[in-house]
Amino acid sequence: MLPKSITNLIEEFSKLPGIGPKTAARLCFYLLTKSDHDINSFGSAINDLKKGLQNCPICYNIATTNPCLICQDNKRNKSIICVVEEPLDIIALEKTNFTGLYHVLGGVISPIDGIGPENLRINQLLNRLTDISLEEVIIATNPSLEGEATSMYISKRIDGLKKEGKIKTNIKLTRIARGLPVGGDLEYTDEVTLSRALEGRREM
Ligand code: ZN
Repeated sequence: MLPKSITNLIEEFSKLPGIGPKTAARLCFYLLTKSDHDINSFGSAINDLKKGLQNCPICYNIATTNPCLICQDNKRNKSIICVVEEPLDIIALEKTNFTGLYHVLGGVISPIDGIGPENLRINQLLNRLTDISLEEVIIATNPSLEGEATSMYISKRIDGLKKEGKIKTNIKLTRIARGLPVGGDLEYTDEVTLSRALEGRREM
C-alpha cells in the first residue's frame, strides 16, 4: 500500500492529457527524489498559475490585461478575425506574419464528449461579425473531423446571418489550406507549414 500523499499525486498527474497511470507514477517518484525546495517551487508554480490571468472579453485569449494586448493593439489589422480552438493556437499563429485579430472557441464540436455549439464561444464570435470594418473571417480549427464539423457549422451560421441581413454580405469566409497533416494540431505545426496554410486559405 502506497502512502496517501503518493497515490493522491499519481491520481492528479493521471488527470493530465497524455499522461497514463505509469507515467503518472514515474513523475511522482521522480519528484520524491527532489529537494524540499524544488518540490515547493513546483507546487507554488501550480498554485500561482491562474493568478492575475483572465479571458479577454473580446477574443477569449488568456490575458493579463482587459482587453488582451492583441485586441488593444492599434497596429493590428482589425478587418480580419482568425478563429482558433485554443489559446495555444494563437501562440503558433503569432510566429507567422499574421497581423489580424483572433477568436478562441474554447474547443470544437464533439458529440462524443458532449460538446455542442452552445458550449463553445460561437455566439460571441457571431456577435463580433456586426463590426462594419470586418472583411474576412478565417477558420483555423484543426484539420480533424471535429475541427471540420465545427468549421462547417460556423460557416452555416454566418450564411444564415448574411441572409437575415444582420451582417455585411461581403464578409469573406475562408478556411486555412489543407497543407496541415490530418489529425495534426495547429499548436505543433511548424511556422513554415502554418504560414503556407494561412497563405493558401480558400473561400468556403
Ligand atoms: Zn483579446
